[in-house]
Amino acid sequence: MQTVEKGSESILQKKWAKRPLIISGPCSAESEEQLIATAQQLAATGKVDMLRAGIWKPRTKPGLFEGVGAVGLPWMQQAKKITGLPTTVEVATGKQVQDALTFGVDMLWIGARTTVNPFSVQEVADALRGVDVPVLIKNPINPDLELWSGAVERVARAGVKQIGLIHRGFSSYGNTEFRNAPMWHLAIEMKRRNPGMMIINDPSHICGRRDILLDVAQKAMDLDFDGLMIESHIDPDSAWSDAKQQVTPARLEEMLDAIKWRVEDVSSESFHAALDKLREQINHVDDELMDLLAQRMRIAEKIGEYKRNNSVTILQTNRWNQILDKSFQKADKIGLSRDFVTKYLDAVHMESINRQNRIMNS
Ligand code: PEP
Ligand code: MN
Repeated sequence: MQTVEKGSESILQKKWAKRPLIISGPCSAESEEQLIATAQQLAATGKVDMLRAGIWKPRTKPGLFEGVGAVGLPWMQQAKKITGLPTTVEVATGKQVQDALTFGVDMLWIGARTTVNPFSVQEVADALRGVDVPVLIKNPINPDLELWSGAVERVARAGVKQIGLIHRGFSSYGNTEFRNAPMWHLAIEMKRRNPGMMIINDPSHICGRRDILLDVAQKAMDLDFDGLMIESHIDPDSAWSDAKQQVTPARLEEMLDAIKWRVEDVSSESFHAALDKLREQINHVDDELMDLLAQRMRIAEKIGEYKRNNSVTILQTNRWNQILDKSFQKADKIGLSRDFVTKYLDAVHMESINRQNRIMNS
């Protein structure tokens, strides 16, 4: 027994250091058969490094499947024994941490619905005191980097040495393309604040659907993420949770084959390769800026309709002055020149006015 445990510990350390790190498994462990069959098929691809499964599922609404609970932990142990894949589960309470560790789970992760709550994160962190287990921390549901950083700090202060991040996108009202908007700039900023800390991407919870998983996974690799966590199920359509976003192990393998992996060895990267990566980041940020601008214009059009229906003038000087004042204050704070901000706002304002003009006269 002793040697098996030692062996598995070093496998875990190897996996922790491997790039790209690929974690896969079902959203939820549903039965021993489902979990083990999924694990076997994933292991057979030779492309998966760790097995994930939700044992306790924090659900947004009551009545949805809330996980099998601790009875699923021996199934994880069994899946590991059969496939050799180290395991990881989500924990949200101190008791869950203890149970997971009792059953030899190799790595833990804190879910998005837990990261939002400092009380819960602290409870998990307290249970981790004195325990040598790697922990991945998902971004909080809402786009708040301080909450994400706070969770990292709480876990680090508990003495956990191996901490990684999972970017799973952010809830944003009215968003339709993604289940959780990626807001890549936030993940990039988190990466910048935590140099050297592993950050992997979870395209499954960003997309909420299968057809765009590959695009998001590729984007993450282009942005130099350290790996991926992707949900996989032997029969995705009949999954008890997140059915629309899960893929079969075979499809996962196809996706992993289709991804263009970036250079792993930074020291051998030429100046041009580094430059390409930065340009890629700029392209993604520009892309998002364009989407935001389009969103702003659509809101301006709605205001146009409202003004038309109430016979109000398009230009309301007070409002415009408020926008300028607010923007200058912000510009000063974040290091953008007033000159640049004026030019940018003028262009945006002109386009807004043109749109509203069209609406008012339609
Ligand atoms: C999950 O990984 O199944 C999960 C519940 O994810 P998240 O915390 O990102 O919603
Ligand atoms: Mn899920």
